[in-house]
Amino acid sequence: MGIDLDSIDSRLRKSICPNCVRFTRQHTCSLPEDRPCSLFSNLDQIVEIVRGTHSPRVEPYLTVLRDQVCAACDHEDDHKYCPCREGLDCALDTYYPMIIETIERELVRQGVLED
Ligand code: SF4
Ligand code: SF4
Repeated sequence: MGIDLDSIDSRLRKSICPNCVRFTRQHTCSLPEDRPCSLFSNLDQIVEIVRGTHSPRVEPYLTVLRDQVCAACDHEDDHKYCPCREGLDCALDTYYPMIIETIERELVRQGVLED
């Protein structure tokens, strides 16, 4: 069954953005234009990580995130150091457990994952 990414995107914008340090009083995102949000710019990959990883613990999801998304991200250096992560300024990293939960729930609702 195909995945409805738009619906996942919209759920995350409702559940994650209002909790994010980058969410403004005007309900906009304060990230500069040349810095796309790591969550929404990598959403298809993140959904695949959630679909393909099955664990009650967050660590296995984190390992794949670091290997597949962070390793290809402009912010991480050759020593696997990321200033955004260190400064709690990457919504994808900061809210990852909540992101996994939201995507999992949506994939179950869409019939892609079993409950
Ligand atoms: S950084 Fe990402 S998660 Fe945070 S408010 Fe902006 S778009 Fe939403
Ligand atoms: S934690 Fe850093 S390297 Fe990983 S996605 Fe976020 S900004 Fe990119």
